[in-house]
Amino acid sequence: MNTSIKTLNATERRIIVNTLEIWHPFWQHGLCEPIFEIKETKDEFLITNDDKKIIDGISSWWVNTLGHNNPYIKEAIKKQADLMQQIIFAGFTHKPAIEVAQKLKSFLPDKYTHIFYSDSGSICVEVALKMAVGYYFNKFGKNKSKIVAMEHSYHGDTFGGMSSGAESVFNYPYRKMLFDVIRIPYPKKNEEEKTIKAYEKILKEKSDEIGAIVLEPLVLGSGGMMFYEPFVLDELYRLSKEYDVMFVLDEVMTGFGRLGTMFAYEQTNITPDIICLSKGLTGGTLPLAATVCTKEIYDAYYSIDKSKMFFHSSSYSANPVSLAAASANLDLWKDKKPLNEVKRINEYYKKQLPNFNNARILGDIFAFEADNSQNNYVSNIGTKLYSYFLENGVLLRPLGNTVYVMPPYCIKEESLDKIFSLLKNI
Ligand SMILES: *Cc1c(COP(=O)(O)O)cnc(C)c1O
Repeated sequence: MNTSIKTLNATERRIIVNTLEIWHPFWQHGLCEPIFEIKETKDEFLITNDDKKIIDGISSWWVNTLGHNNPYIKEAIKKQADLMQQIIFAGFTHKPAIEVAQKLKSFLPDKYTHIFYSDSGSICVEVALKMAVGYYFNKFGKNKSKIVAMEHSYHGDTFGGMSSGAESVFNYPYRKMLFDVIRIPYPKKNEEEKTIKAYEKILKEKSDEIGAIVLEPLVLGSGGMMFYEPFVLDELYRLSKEYDVMFVLDEVMTGFGRLGTMFAYEQTNITPDIICLSKGLTGGTLPLAATVCTKEIYDAYYSIDKSKMFFHSSSYSANPVSLAAASANLDLWKDKKPLNEVKRINEYYKKQLPNFNNARILGDIFAFEADNSQNNYVSNIGTKLYSYFLENGVLLRPLGNTVYVMPPYCIKEESLDKIFSLLKNI
């Protein structure tokens, strides 16, 4: 494959004087692997400067749901951009913000009454944790500032996200800077009781200090697409309520159909106290996040005392253009129609299962381990496979040796065929 732009090697770098070299995220520039310049996108394709089509097998890092360059969402963005781009959101509001709140409400149980807008997945999780801890402080004057999280979990790359997420190569240099989080084990198949018992023990000993448990529902994404059973969430929720701890679900990846239901919690018998949404909220078009909570939480901040307000904002809180994209996205979710596409993809996966030992599927996700000998994020096999797939026009980015497919829901059967013909060869 032709590469439009190459990463510079050390010699080339020395002679560059007219530009700042761009430092890419989660990218080892030292490996000098090619970086592709994309000029436009369509449906499941990223289109390079030299008109090569790359199948986006991972929805551009899990954000894109309905397909790239969706005409309806794009139109809404254009219209809103013409009116206004950003305003202060303290003391002011706008139509797109109101519309998204109204439309999202229709997809959620009555218990959710308030929505707080922010800009990214990491931040909406931090907002959730702050909301929970502040709730106990404002309402009872209690310091319940400890957080419980699951081993192998991922909640983003900010300090709150890194602290709640698994200790790993991602955050090792910063480990001393992270706040203390109490971990429960990942509920392996048939060992779920261990997780539930571990949580119960923690709560018995110190629920007085714990403000929230934060979990990725049903699948630990970055941890390696590790699935677990819905009943675990039922049990963890039950314990949380028994011991008065806020139950937070980080649906940043799972929200908007990824697991075959609009939200992952719909596959359980419970509804969390706080839901974190981001990636699919705008269909994967513009940055936006939302933290949705109950009246009980909001009420702990509602007062004539200014010191009890929720002290959180970011410069671009509730960006009107992003919200217009989210509003259009929610229109497209009317009658939960995109779930039919997820179902179609899942049926396709089912037919592929016999070709793989040990593959697992859930909604739009197909995952398996390529080589059991080197199971870590930086393992070589992942890097080699990434290049092999790209040379063949497919973007898949294995997590260590865990290979997974998670395409936009519009993906055509012939593109799935192409992906799976490559997977069968590895
Ligand atoms: C991607 C992700 C995040 C972080 O979102 P950003 O927008 O990258 O900050 C947090 N939690 C989960 C489960 C995610 O998948």
